[in-house]
Order: sequence, then C-alpha cells, then structure tokens
Amino acid sequence: MRILITGGAGFLGSHLSDRLLAQGHEVVCMDNFFTGRKRNIRHLLEHPDFELLRHDVIDPFKIEVDQIYNLACPASPIHYQFNAIKTIKTSVMGAINCLGLAKRTKARVFQASTSECYGDPSVHPQPEQYWGNVNPIGIRSCYDEGKRCAETLFMDYHRQNDVDIRIVRIFNTYGPRMCPDDGRVVSNFIVQALRGDAITIYGEGQQTRSFCYCDDLISGFLKLMNQEEIIGPVNMGNPGEFTILELAQKVIAQTGSSSKIIYESLPQDDPKQRQPDIQLAREKLNWEPTLNLEEGLKPTIEYFDQLLSES
Ligand code: NAD
Ligand code: UDP
Repeated sequence: MRILITGGAGFLGSHLSDRLLAQGHEVVCMDNFFTGRKRNIRHLLEHPDFELLRHDVIDPFKIEVDQIYNLACPASPIHYQFNAIKTIKTSVMGAINCLGLAKRTKARVFQASTSECYGDPSVHPQPEQYWGNVNPIGIRSCYDEGKRCAETLFMDYHRQNDVDIRIVRIFNTYGPRMCPDDGRVVSNFIVQALRGDAITIYGEGQQTRSFCYCDDLISGFLKLMNQEEIIGPVNMGNPGEFTILELAQKVIAQTGSSSKIIYESLPQDDPKQRQPDIQLAREKLNWEPTLNLEEGLKPTIEYFDQLLSES
C-alpha cells in the first residue's frame, strides 16, 4: 500500500515509518518540522519506498494513497502552548484535510487522539465510555479540545460520508527519538539525570501517569488499522501506573545519576491521575504492551546518552 503519515518526522511518526517500510509498504511522510526532526528519518531518506513532503497539514493536499495516519500535532505542553491557535488549527483543519482526502480516495484514515480527551479524570482508570473532565478555556484546552473536536469530525465523516476511520486514544508514550527539549517528563528526567542536573518535579510528584514504550504502541496502531471489527476510539497505553516521584527515582537508579530532586510549581490543569483501561484493545485486537517501564527506559536512556555525547 501507499501510506501517508502526517507528522511522519516526529517521535511516533518516524517509528511508524520504520515499521511500515519493513512490511513492504510505500510511505509518504508529511511534516512541517515544527517538532519533528530530520535526524529521526535521516536513515530513511535514501529508501526507495520513502518520500518526504514538507507541508503543513492545515493546508489542503491531494495525494493518491491507500491509508492515512494523521499524527501531525505538537504533543508536549511546551510545544502545543507555544502557539495555541496554531495547535487547535492543526488538530481541526488537519483532521478535515485528512478526512476530505480519505473521502475522495476511499483510503482508511487513522487519528492519533489522546488520553487528554479525559482531562483531569474523575473516573479511574479511564475506559473509552468516559466522556472526560476537560477545562474548555484553560492553557491545555488548545490541545485537549482540538483533539476532541478532531474525534467529532472523524465520527461525523464516518456517519455522514461513510469514511473508513480508526481512532486511538494514546496514553503517555516514550522512547528513543523523543525531542530532548520538549519538556515531556520522561525525556526531561533522563536528560537531567544524564547531565547531572537537578530533576525537576512539578508539584509534590504524587500525580500519576502510565508510560508505554513506543514499539508496543506502534504494534497497537497496526493492529487497529488492519482489522475490520472496531473503529474506536480505543485506548492504547501501558496500564502500569507510577507517581512522577517514582518515575524520577527509577530514572536516577537506572542512569546511576547523582542528580538531586527539586520541586517546582505544578502547571495549571495538570491531571492528577491517568491510567488506561485497555480491556477493549485486549479483547478486540488481542493487543497489550509487552515491555514494563524499566525495560523501556533502558533503550531510551541509551538513545539520550548517545545523543548528548554527540552534542
Ligand atoms: P511529535 O511532536 O514528535 O510529533 C508530531 C509531529 O507532527 C512532528 O513531526 C511535527 O513537526 C509535526 N507537525 C506538527 N504540526 C504540524 C502541522 N501543522 N503540519 C504538519 N506537521 C506537523 O509528537 P509525538 O509524540 O510523535 O506525537 C504524535 C501524535 O501522537 C500527535 O498527534 C500527538 O498528539 C499524539 N499523541 C502522542 C502521545 C505521546 O505520549 N507521545 C500521547 C497522546 C497523543
Ligand atoms: N512533569 C514534571 N517534571 C517535568 C516535566 C513534567 O514533574 O520536568 C510532570 C507534569 O507536571 C505532569 C507529568 O510530569 O504531571 C507528565 O507530564 P508530560 O508533560 O510528560 O505529559 P502530560 O502532562 O501531557 O501527561
């Protein structure tokens, strides 16, 4: 198949490109390089089945493709708050452009949605049926509400125009090729630990997240995209739940770092807890993560160690 990945030069998009090329597909990688890096796809540039397109997903595009993965959107709070209006445009207009293309070409189209759709959840762990607790006017809203609106658009194009859709709600995912300065907690802690800088915990570190290794997540994407039974939204993430303090301690132990922990103020609307209920993915897709946090941190730390030694 010829497969379009918007946001293909980003952290997840580049891993997805690797996997699809390994399966023998053609990949068209579209990216505006806001948070994506040439470094992430440099090894693919000479691949005969890989094509790179510098393009912004908010501007319409016409390509003949069989499948579309819509991943284009800054994902870390620092980056999505940098230009909030652009972030919401990316989610909403990007979804409209991908869905319009899917309608015309009859391509199956995938939306990278997010656990942020649940906001600061009052139901724990979060099943797909939970409608969430999202502040519509806060500093995270450009991301959360943009992604929620994209889900609405996907469902409406499906109901109204019979577009063949798939939606995944991704919970915190980490691994090699994360941007070292995007402020997400796993990359921040690893980089701080490797440099011997203080580890910055926001708040008291009692808020929780559940961390999934990227290869496990990509396997889930492929399973959802290549079956007929469910369209989603389906949660994907690792149910292993940790406080942010526990994560800091694990990173310190696994890097052998002498970094100290310091406490800084908690950002506004920071969710207090987050854990995916992945029963649907287990039952319908026979999918669940295979690597625990310690196993996934190992190659991630190795990646950042190498990256820092080059700079
Ligand atoms: P990332 O920032 O590494 O990747 C996003 C990619 O989209 C980058 O390459 C960026 O340059 C590109 N992009 C941004 N705006 C664009 C635009 N207007 N036009 C074209 N390209 C644009 O982040 P990621 O972690 O790889 O996230 C990929 C997708 O998965 C995002 O949609 C994100 O919201 C979603 N997601 C990720 C996580 C996670 O934990 N990694 C969790 C939930 C959802
Ligand atoms: N966090 C932290 N220190 C950091 C970066 C993040 O304590 O240096 C916290 C952040 O406040 C949040 C959690 O770690 O509670 C996860 O943050 P991230 O930005 O990775 O993801 P999200 O909040 O979108 O789940």
